[in-house]
Amino acid sequence: MTEGQTEQRSIKKISEADQGYRSRQEQTVVLLDPAEYAFGYDVHVYRKHMDRMSDSLKAKFESGLTKKLGNARVKLQSQSHNPRSAHYFIDFIGESLLDSDTGLTSFILRRNEKPDFQKIFAVSGISDKVLEQMIVAHVKRFEDYLSTFDTQVQTWQSQFDKRLREKIASGSYPLSIEVLERRLQNTKVVLGDALRDDLTSDKGGHFEVEREIAMIAQQELRRRGEKVYTHEMLHALSGRTLVAEKPKNPIADDDENYYYNAQRVGLRFQSGESSRFRWLNEGVTESLTQDICTITDTTYEKERELFKLLQQQGKIPVSEELFIKAFFENYNPDLPYGERIPAWKHLYSAINNAYVPGFLLKLDKYVGTNGIEKTIDTMKGDWREIIKTS
Ligand SMILES: [Zn+2]
Repeated sequence: MTEGQTEQRSIKKISEADQGYRSRQEQTVVLLDPAEYAFGYDVHVYRKHMDRMSDSLKAKFESGLTKKLGNARVKLQSQSHNPRSAHYFIDFIGESLLDSDTGLTSFILRRNEKPDFQKIFAVSGISDKVLEQMIVAHVKRFEDYLSTFDTQVQTWQSQFDKRLREKIASGSYPLSIEVLERRLQNTKVVLGDALRDDLTSDKGGHFEVEREIAMIAQQELRRRGEKVYTHEMLHALSGRTLVAEKPKNPIADDDENYYYNAQRVGLRFQSGESSRFRWLNEGVTESLTQDICTITDTTYEKERELFKLLQQQGKIPVSEELFIKAFFENYNPDLPYGERIPAWKHLYSAINNAYVPGFLLKLDKYVGTNGIEKTIDTMKGDWREIIKTS
């Protein structure tokens, strides 16, 4: 850290309408070619350039391609070992087997050799040539999905918009039409690839508040694309606490020098690397998602169960409505200090009354230390165990 960085930075909380923040948002168009989100895009582009070269020049670039294939192989291997992402890897193998252009099937069924299925699941046994063909075919499939993605998103969006307006009209969600319209307009919905990014952390999608980007994994489109869209858009609609941070000795005195960040999205608080109440935020987000989509599945099942237990197991119940109000509440820097997030305060004190003061923080720490399943067991038994251990 240099001397300048150790100096105090001035941080101020801002509203979503803050001019500097808005102009930063407008500059944040998605700069990437959408196809670049595809796993193996670099391999595909590298090969395309090489195809235009003379043979002698091509030979010089061969080792670069081998290196890229090596990186892709490592990535695939780690995806295949991760229980959360292994199904995306299996999809990749399955689609490669179906697509004769990849040569994968003939690779395992080599004449006069015993078919060896082991090596395709270990990836290490696949030759560079076949792996490259599999990756190029994968990028092509991604581009096919891209060509219909925007139309797809429009259909989901109009359905989502309609359902949300009904929720607002019936008073179920403390949300204004204005916020709904603004967030729908500002959120950039892009197609992602679960093989490339860790989209498993949010079960097939991702919402990034700083750039207002909602990413939907290509792998989820056929299975449950609309549901993933709904979940990510609820993150986009949930309340935010935004901050603008300015270095003490800015180079020039204009908005360019601010860093914009979110300290809170929904019920999840973030400071630096650490975050609090992620399980609660996902539990609430997914409960609302399943209600809106009128479906039931196992997504964030444990988080939703713990959310339910938190409502029921205290000395007095904590109503779901309090959570929903806090979930949608935007920090209002124009109100007097201490009155800027009333719904959150209300929820926090209701939990204090139902259990003991500071219980939610202790519960969060307990989840961090013991895992969610153990926490559920403890909540079903005696929640006082949670305050004993922290
Ligand atoms: Zn989520």
